[in-house]
Amino acid sequence: MKRTLIRGGRILDPASLTDLTADLLIEDGKIAGIGQDLVAERAEVIDATGCWVAPGFVDMHTHLREPGQEYKEDIRSGGRAAAAGGFTSVACMANTDPVNDDPSVTKFIIDQAEENSPVRVYPIAAATVGLAGEVMTEMSALRQAGAVAFSDDGRGTEDAAVMRHLLEYSKLVDAVVIVHAEDECLRAEGVVNEGFVSTQLGLPPNPSTAEEIRVARDISLARMTGARLHIAHVSTKRAVAYIREARDEGLQVTAEVSPHHLTLTDRETLGFDTSSKMAPPLRSSEDVAACRAGLCEGVIDAVATDHAPHAVYEKDVEFISAPCGILGFETAYPVVMELVRSEELTPLELMDRMSLGAVRILRVPGGSLAIGSVADVVVLDPEAIWKYDPAQGYSKSRNSPWSGREMQGQIAYTLVGGTVVFDRQRGVLEQ
Ligand SMILES: [Zn+2]
Repeated sequence: MKRTLIRGGRILDPASLTDLTADLLIEDGKIAGIGQDLVAERAEVIDATGCWVAPGFVDMHTHLREPGQEYKEDIRSGGRAAAAGGFTSVACMANTDPVNDDPSVTKFIIDQAEENSPVRVYPIAAATVGLAGEVMTEMSALRQAGAVAFSDDGRGTEDAAVMRHLLEYSKLVDAVVIVHAEDECLRAEGVVNEGFVSTQLGLPPNPSTAEEIRVARDISLARMTGARLHIAHVSTKRAVAYIREARDEGLQVTAEVSPHHLTLTDRETLGFDTSSKMAPPLRSSEDVAACRAGLCEGVIDAVATDHAPHAVYEKDVEFISAPCGILGFETAYPVVMELVRSEELTPLELMDRMSLGAVRILRVPGGSLAIGSVADVVVLDPEAIWKYDPAQGYSKSRNSPWSGREMQGQIAYTLVGGTVVFDRQRGVLEQ
């Protein structure tokens, strides 16, 4: 029997609301015990003194770029970056090349992940063929192939009748529909949040209303169909308000927010840094405050990185021509720790939003340290100070607004199914 004993850490289990200093014992890939001064023969011992021990993070919104854009990232490099960031499961969006709108692509991703990724990878299939927003994919076949959810992320589904049918059909295959809520006509060519910054820079604006009206529409369709709707990367004050209302009404509406929309405003763009370009764009401080409040209240269920690697030459162009998106895995924990240090979130609440929230929505394993559950565990050093350099990271890309910044909070160990896949001293380990 393979045993690992994580000794003396602060155990934070959002599933049981446990917060105490104790030892955690893992046997054969499962959580086997939590207690004081546990003794285990022939166990690998991890000293977690001064550290937090929590369920491994689960990221429900990532872009791993394989198949088709392996020069940006692939399942191996993305999986390794995720492990280094404390993630034990990631769900990947369908905007690959070819698009994941066919069971053969879904199976390819699962096979590649099994072979090459240190963390669990769950494919999210396209909701419409080619992400074109017109013809529904074969949801049942994709579900059988292993898709955990459906999304045309990157594109807003413009046709409300198509969205209605997607939601209706999603009930039959028991999967959530994830929407990138942005009205493409209203957004038009907009690249930064509409407001003072867009005016000052003279860049085409993307109004917060483009997100709000789409969130309102899709909530109405969720009410009409009774389906499960998940709003990706919420970024505006009004969208949070609409989601709060929908939740109060008892609709099955969930939401996620990214570390950047929780901590950065459109002022990041004042230097034309293309690492501040993403969709939806960075918003006003008022929007950031509303997203933070939504996450703290639990109106927003989960933090999701929207990890979106792009090659240096692609981002090293004029702001208006650069692709949208930034890296997320290796900075997520220290960035969101800002909300713990400001006492907006307790450590236990943060662990809930980093793992259990996504587990509940996607209905995948993880998010719990209950006896018998899968030993996907992260050991965190909340005090460690370090400087982030994407070139030292595991992603193939470098596009991060936090490049060169000082961070507080670091991943010490990541364990998937009881096996250490990352440790701070040795890095990501080959299995
Ligand atoms: Zn998106």
